[in-house]
Amino acid sequence: DLYNKVLELKGNIRVFCRCRPLNAQEIAAGATIALDFENEGELTIRSNGACKRTFKFDAVFDPQSDQVDVFRETAPLAASVLDGYNVCIFAYGQTGTGKTYTMEGTDEARGVNYRTLQEFFRIVEERKKILHYDISVSVLEVYNEQIRDLLSAGSPAGLPAKRLEIRQAGEGMLNVPGLVEARVNNMNEVWEVLHTGNNARAVGSTNANEHSSRSHCLHCVMVRGENLLNGECLRSKLWLVDLAGSERIAKTDVQGERLKETQYINRSLSALGDVISALATKSPHIPFRNSKLTHLLQDSLGGDSKALMFVQISPNENDMSETICSLNFASRVK
Ligand code: ADP
Ligand code: MG
Repeated sequence: DLYNKVLELKGNIRVFCRCRPLNAQEIAAGATIALDFENEGELTIRSNGACKRTFKFDAVFDPQSDQVDVFRETAPLAASVLDGYNVCIFAYGQTGTGKTYTMEGTDEARGVNYRTLQEFFRIVEERKKILHYDISVSVLEVYNEQIRDLLSAGSPAGLPAKRLEIRQAGEGMLNVPGLVEARVNNMNEVWEVLHTGNNARAVGSTNANEHSSRSHCLHCVMVRGENLLNGECLRSKLWLVDLAGSERIAKTDVQGERLKETQYINRSLSALGDVISALATKSPHIPFRNSKLTHLLQDSLGGDSKALMFVQISPNENDMSETICSLNFASRVK
């Protein structure tokens, strides 16, 4: 159980790096691979003579690793949530590096979201004589620093979904008044709700794919547990977050709406980086309030919560400068 092993040693934030394979077009175009994966937990930027750099992470998944390999290392987090810990799992990286593949996956190759929830409901079932769990889910999106509820009915096609604000709800707990929390009892129900949310995401945008890489998508599974033997209660949350693409876009290349989007994304990703590195260095001040994203996650980052960030990268030599940026971002956490 790699996660818990490193957790004992190094605090509550883990970073896993995953590199996608070259795709058919890249292979056809004769793309060169710029990374080596020789030692476990490490990757090396291949030297073209000069600077050979090695990065170490809590786990490194090379292009041959599959969804099962990845889930083997994340599976224990399902039990953590049901034990009362808040858990956040993120995917960070340049558009096209496999964030959605890792989190969402495909029908043939399910990702972290599906597998984690399946394990989660397996444990709910296994514990049902001792623990009763009430489970609900929310699906939201942060786009241009606005929170949109993707489960709220009454957002007719073409209109943006309801906008929401974050409120403090008692000690250390955050609340988003009006956010739809859909009760779910099993895997089928939760998966259907998440689908509904995903479908609402693209509403009103001309290019669904592009929109999804320009906004943060957050799934939140909220748990209330009651121990039937002693009456003890617990509350916890599982956040599954597919972040907006981290690629830097030159200001000279974009204008108007697109420039605004880019600035919002840059700001919120760097706010996330600041929060994570402040947590990792045990800084007394954690700047949660600098973005909607970090504010939303405030009660689920830090404290005794468990966070896992997938840093997704491309093996292609042509993507090297973005890859190095992502690896540097990830290294701040250590
Ligand atoms: P992102 O969400 O970061 O923009 P995607 O998840 O959409 O990237 O991935 C881009 C493409 O690469 C998709 O077609 C996806 O199926 C494929 N892909 C990504 N990672 C892998 C992987 N590890 N194995 C196989 N295909 C992958
Ligand atoms: Mg994506």
